[in-house]
Amino acid sequence: MKNLYNEADAPAADDLLALRVYTSRLLGADPALVLHGGGNTSVKIAETNLVGEREEILYVKGSGWDLGTIEKKGFAPVRMERLKKLAALLALSDPAMVNELKCAMTDASAPAPSVEAILHAILPYPFVDHTHADAFVAVSNTPGGEGRVREIYGDRVVYVPYVMPGFDLARAAFEAYTRDATPKTVGMALMNHGLFSFGATAKESYDRMIELVGMAEEYLKARDAWDCPSDAPAPVSFDRGAFSALRRGVSDAAGRPMILSLNDGDKQRAFVNRPDLSAVALSGPATPDHVIRTKRLPMIGDDVAGYAAAYKAYFDACAAQAKEPKTMLDPAPRVILDPRFGVVSVGANVGAASIVDDLYDHTIDVISRASRLGGYRALPKQDIFDVEYWDLEQAKLKKGGSAPLFAGEVALVTGGASGIGAACVDALLARGAAVACFDIDPAVSSRLIRPDYLGLTVDLTDETKVDEALDAVVQRFGGLDTVIANAGIFTKSTKIEEMPATLWRKVFAVNVDAVASLLRLVKPLLADAPRKGRVTIIGSKNVPAPGPGAAAYSASKAALTQLARVAALEWGAEGIRVNVLHPDAVFDTAIWTEEVLATRAKAYGMSVEQYKTKNVLKTEVRSADVAALAAETLGPLFSRTTGAAIPVDGGNDRVI
Ligand code: ZN
Repeated sequence: MKNLYNEADAPAADDLLALRVYTSRLLGADPALVLHGGGNTSVKIAETNLVGEREEILYVKGSGWDLGTIEKKGFAPVRMERLKKLAALLALSDPAMVNELKCAMTDASAPAPSVEAILHAILPYPFVDHTHADAFVAVSNTPGGEGRVREIYGDRVVYVPYVMPGFDLARAAFEAYTRDATPKTVGMALMNHGLFSFGATAKESYDRMIELVGMAEEYLKARDAWDCPSDAPAPVSFDRGAFSALRRGVSDAAGRPMILSLNDGDKQRAFVNRPDLSAVALSGPATPDHVIRTKRLPMIGDDVAGYAAAYKAYFDACAAQAKEPKTMLDPAPRVILDPRFGVVSVGANVGAASIVDDLYDHTIDVISRASRLGGYRALPKQDIFDVEYWDLEQAKLKKGGSAPLFAGEVALVTGGASGIGAACVDALLARGAAVACFDIDPAVSSRLIRPDYLGLTVDLTDETKVDEALDAVVQRFGGLDTVIANAGIFTKSTKIEEMPATLWRKVFAVNVDAVASLLRLVKPLLADAPRKGRVTIIGSKNVPAPGPGAAAYSASKAALTQLARVAALEWGAEGIRVNVLHPDAVFDTAIWTEEVLATRAKAYGMSVEQYKTKNVLKTEVRSADVAALAAETLGPLFSRTTGAAIPVDGGNDRVI
């Protein structure tokens, strides 16, 4: 465990909140200490308020903030006087506690204080740090774990048996601290949960946390329980159809489309091939707060119906013991362990699936280490259930309002490195889809850097390469729901009698043959799409209104349109929709430089502005206009439309 404190980077000693931010970020920078909203920190500062009174304020991590990226405004300022009075109560319900914490703040616009605020308040030190360190949890989550933890820390920490976070935990910690703390005490060990450290300065509290976690690491290393096995068997070839079918099953159980993301790293494959996989993986999560992301248990194999039935049985048994009535969440798994694939993370969007992947990556470490110490043992299911169905935990998932149009869905755009295709990528991302983009231009891979975008350099006329690229899409996102076939080439004006045969064939190879081949390859994936597959083809105004000098282009787009119409007929019975857009005069693309535009406008005896709007509506048609319509044709607005050819050209008198 490396101590990252650096005097040169640390803020001035008199800015206590800045110091609090600094060491909180140091903790948050190490995923072996805290992950995705886990852990919390605080500092107590004496301040003079508006009416001239001195009061002590607890600045405690606000909910919704991650320690790794927290800022001053991420700390909720709560009056200590009130917190101390609350801590002295014998009981306090969750809603009452949340209300009291909010009402005791000195800034109405600050985030809601952490549910562990009262616990921070009762510890008589200016700085308090709390993590869910992997090494500590690995030792604690074993049979006889408390004995091992005591062996490591002796009288350096106060011990608190597992209690669910919230007021009851603050109360239990207060009693333990009052009873057991000595001058040697530097922290607190919360069984099956994590560590607290405290100190007079930010550095002292941070140093102590690093030291305490380091002691657990040394304990594991001394018992040859540190390194995780990574001697995985050779990967089997990826079965795209089986993976897509798995996504369909999971999405049906969840009641909405879900992203499935495969991690087939050595560590993950070694883990899913453990002979004792069921025994170790079906004990429970490493710390209870993981449950809202990962559910209590992973699914081993692909029996989604069996998993859902077992989840319902767990809900029924535990809900009967709960204090208030509970409504069951969806019964779909969030972690799938399948020796054919590896570790599969499931989420309502790419961000959620990626959090699951991170959490399970650390869970594998914890399980591997604990099992080498003598066995991994998580908390009983009722304790996990109480956190899973705790309103204050569920609130973390509800931020951000309703889900966007294509949440959980996966789209493919061809020719999306620039122009209309790039605008389609943006339109789909803005509507919540995960987007894969194939383009022959290598710029496709770096046009956007974000986890819900996968840009692959692919020659669409090379079917083997397209097939491989589809594997990559399905491994990353789980399947395919929608396609915008946009890639195409437009050659310079050539009369038929001057047109080389090679040119004709090249245009057809890209504009027609490649799309026919793509449709054949994606059909099984579209058939698995939870809300039925949808395809939109970018055609051209040249289909209904061809122009001289563009024989190959016009004929190829006409053939493409006919291909789409036949696909609409053939696939309609399975609910897959196929429509065509016919754009015209979209000038904000790479081929239409200022110079080309000026030349063309002059040829028509027009200004550039007149030339760009030479349509019935006298309006400019931009890439983004075409893309917005393309995205909407994939959505519910067009759920009753297939086989249609829709102009997006500002009105063309030859077409009308
Ligand atoms: Zn905690």
